[in-house]
Amino acid sequence: MLAKAAIRSKLPRVGTTIFTKMSKLAEEHKAINLAQGFPEFDCEPALQRLVTKYLSQGKNQYAPMAGVMKLREAISKKVFTATNKEYHPETEITITSGATEALYVAITAVVHPGDEVIVFEPAYDSYVPAIELNGGTPVFVTLHPQYESIDWDVVRSKISPKTKAIIINTPHNPTGNVWKLTDLQQLAALAEKHDLTVISDEVYEHIIFDGREHISAASIPALAKRTFLCGSFGKTFHTTGWKIGYCLAPKEMSVEFRKIHQFLVFSVVTPIQFALADYLEDPTHYLGLSAFYQQKRDLFINAIKDVGFTLRPSEGSFFQNVTYENLTDENDRQLAERLTIEAGVASIPVSAFYDQVTNYQTLRFCFAKNDETLLRAAELLGKVTW
Ligand code: PMP
Ligand code: GLN
Repeated sequence: MLAKAAIRSKLPRVGTTIFTKMSKLAEEHKAINLAQGFPEFDCEPALQRLVTKYLSQGKNQYAPMAGVMKLREAISKKVFTATNKEYHPETEITITSGATEALYVAITAVVHPGDEVIVFEPAYDSYVPAIELNGGTPVFVTLHPQYESIDWDVVRSKISPKTKAIIINTPHNPTGNVWKLTDLQQLAALAEKHDLTVISDEVYEHIIFDGREHISAASIPALAKRTFLCGSFGKTFHTTGWKIGYCLAPKEMSVEFRKIHQFLVFSVVTPIQFALADYLEDPTHYLGLSAFYQQKRDLFINAIKDVGFTLRPSEGSFFQNVTYENLTDENDRQLAERLTIEAGVASIPVSAFYDQVTNYQTLRFCFAKNDETLLRAAELLGKVTW
């Protein structure tokens, strides 16, 4: 008799991610995909040539568990230039399979059953399942998708003796908000007082607008000493499909991080690590990214200005949120589906980034697309009947 495997789900509330769902719907209806966040354009040929070079030079076996040393050194130099914080390549930098792995491992390293973790929502979709798989409980600080500032009294009110960690993300997906120095200072004081570990998701560090500056957790010593800083090259070099990221953390924290990383993936694709190490030598490869995306943000906002949405221009990331409460009563999932099917433009309903059902009537559009694509999408949105 065949054994019937009865699996008691560890993630009973989780289905397929909204990104997969909306991308599939977009494909079925041949809609312009402004839903899942990925660039429509390719990475630079120079970067591709470097990968090809290392592939043909035989850099095709396992990389060291913590990552190719040349890449760790290049990251250390880059981060030191930006933040004045020195991460030791040998002991404090680990190359991961995208920021997703870095976040998962960091959360796993710190969360024990019964622990609480503060999560600001809307939140990127991988945080909560990672907390729950480790037996932890997310405690939410709920923000409006077009919020302007964080009420730190609310954050303080969520801390309990069980709170072990807090997850932050700036520039933020999906809201496009960027934290100010005062936010990071408030966080530092709170984390110090309650001895919290900070997990800082900084994957959009180089996509930031209107002269704002990215303030990394690494640049504040009181934070850096208790932070797992998770980064990614996917957004910075238009290479989301390569899934290369990293985690920066003090030595003792990195020791625990690596214990888990080594059994999750052991190491990460070798030739691309060599290529990225070379490519990082020239800062112009990433310092122009904000201007590049700011032009796209402005083009998109200007092109949709007559549709009737309400919006605050994105401060960073490649996402623009729009609220449509003046246009229709539909909830955001209904509208995202209708716009994909009827108008031919796919977006993400922002309620997908909340734990409980919300109806802020907000959609997220990704503007990491060619100008013609953004203009065409705006034209199609302009024809919608409300
Ligand atoms: N964090 C945020 C906020 C993201 O938007 C993403 C993905 N786009 C990730 C983490 C995951 O990054 P990666 O693709 O490098 O795993
Ligand atoms: N980070 C991307 C987004 O927010 C999607 C990543 C994914 O598909 N898992 O759209």
